[in-house]
Amino acid sequence: TNVNKIPNEIKTNTNEGDFMTMTIQKEVNKRKTFAIISHPDAGKTTLTEKLLLYGNLIRSAGTVKGKKSGKFATSDWMEIEKQRGISVTSSVMNFSYQGAQVNILDTPGHEDFSEDTYRTLTAVDSVVMIIDGTKGIEAQTIKLFKVCRMRGIPIFTFINKMDREGKEPLELLEEIEEVLDIETYPMNWPAGMGKRFLGIFDRYEKQFVKFNGNEEETYIPFHELDQEVELVSQPTFEAARDELELVEEAGDEFSLDAILQGEQTPVFFGSALAPFGVQTFFDTFISLAPNPKPRKSTEGVIQPDNQEFSGFIFKIQANMNPAHRDRVAFLRVCSGKFERGMSVKVARTGKVIKLSQSQQIVASTRDTIDEAYAGDIIGIYDPNVYQIGDTLIGGKGKFEYDELPQFPPEIYKKVTAKNVMKAKQFRKGIEQLVQEGAIQLFRGHRDESFILGAVGELQYEVFQYRMKNEYNVEVLFETIGERIPRWLNREQVDPSLFDERNLLVRDREDNFLVLFRNEFALNWFKDKHPKIDLIDLFEVN
Ligand code: GDP
Repeated sequence: TNVNKIPNEIKTNTNEGDFMTMTIQKEVNKRKTFAIISHPDAGKTTLTEKLLLYGNLIRSAGTVKGKKSGKFATSDWMEIEKQRGISVTSSVMNFSYQGAQVNILDTPGHEDFSEDTYRTLTAVDSVVMIIDGTKGIEAQTIKLFKVCRMRGIPIFTFINKMDREGKEPLELLEEIEEVLDIETYPMNWPAGMGKRFLGIFDRYEKQFVKFNGNEEETYIPFHELDQEVELVSQPTFEAARDELELVEEAGDEFSLDAILQGEQTPVFFGSALAPFGVQTFFDTFISLAPNPKPRKSTEGVIQPDNQEFSGFIFKIQANMNPAHRDRVAFLRVCSGKFERGMSVKVARTGKVIKLSQSQQIVASTRDTIDEAYAGDIIGIYDPNVYQIGDTLIGGKGKFEYDELPQFPPEIYKKVTAKNVMKAKQFRKGIEQLVQEGAIQLFRGHRDESFILGAVGELQYEVFQYRMKNEYNVEVLFETIGERIPRWLNREQVDPSLFDERNLLVRDREDNFLVLFRNEFALNWFKDKHPKIDLIDLFEVN
């Protein structure tokens, strides 16, 4: 219902607060905020491009990757991205589609991803997982998927590249169920693949979508299929129909509840490139994907249609545009209405800040936005007052959203400045880059050395590049390698128990932890010192 069309008698009976709530409710119910996750080369760019086409955000395909074409030079912010032709930073795309307000959060597709990638998942309400049908589940999918499972994020699966010979559909479903430990429900069933690909049985709309080898799709209702003699007489078609029957009898029942709990994933077969089955997929996704949910805070659950504006910062990025040496904090709106120029309070510090400069980070153009609701992501100028995980509140409320999960670094390195005279800039640079959260800082207990921990090797490259370009400090790394971090209770700390193999370090809050060399060293220590508690603070391992 359109709020403007509410009859006057209701308007007069409704106080302004109720009216405001209704407006917010209506906006929240339109929001679909999701991330697309996949292993590199599975087809994320190709699929995203098609979705943007449907959303009229771009006019022709090929503009997302062809970074020169202006509007979608999204990832060109940093020189390093250009050099390596990859996207280091996650960006946000938003458009309206069939009455929904769609927010797509991009996650870096490169093997080297960072904590940012993980954290992006805290800001979405669902994810689309793309699997290359010729390869099945690949390493990176598993990692990101685990985080989704742990957080109960609904997952929609798109099995791509049906126009190529790949694994059998049943085999792919089994793989998903086994490797990722989730129920599957095929929303459609493919008839053939590669050169023999005929199309898909759309179980949701009860129609066969015929693949004509071009962008055109023909829809044939199931009950009219027998008239399509040429189609149904093909062995591939018959075989697929038999298989589908088997799936209907033996497979899991469709359960929207289970989907929304992240316990069942609806699976769509198609081809992002053709494109085939993409529009059906997207339409179904839009109708099933959840709207922004209430979020837990220190003061209980906050409803998305709560009148008071609130949100949390899940990412901070410096100097995205070399022309402006600024920092941008990415905020996920969780309740109320954001308006440009409004004042908000940083819950952690109590500091009040006027949000005069807010941008929706869409591609390289930073469109200024005037209002936003729960589910929306906005970039706000950061005059060095925000931290990752900060809660911002528009009214009098005093609460903080649940802490964002910390992820264990996979590679540790000791870092020093090449030129000792640059100690001051070195510290400043480290401090600011660490605050952005892509890299973690520890201090060696013995020598106060600076030890960095990151999820991927790329973070070190970015760190090195930025230290040089933004702080004018050349840094040197000394690799420590993979380690297993365990925290200690302060009163149990005994430095004499540790050495270079099992490094005793402090985190930024001055808590003690040990970087164990490997599983063996950890277990050995446990056996030897059963009384010392070793605490694992990371949610995902
Ligand atoms: P990303 O790394 O996940 O973003 O993958 P891209 O979208 O860049 O796709 C990787 C390669 O796979 C490109 O060469 C695409 O043209 C190709 N590709 C993507 N989707 C399909 C598809 O449905 N069928 C076929 N045959 N190739 C595809």
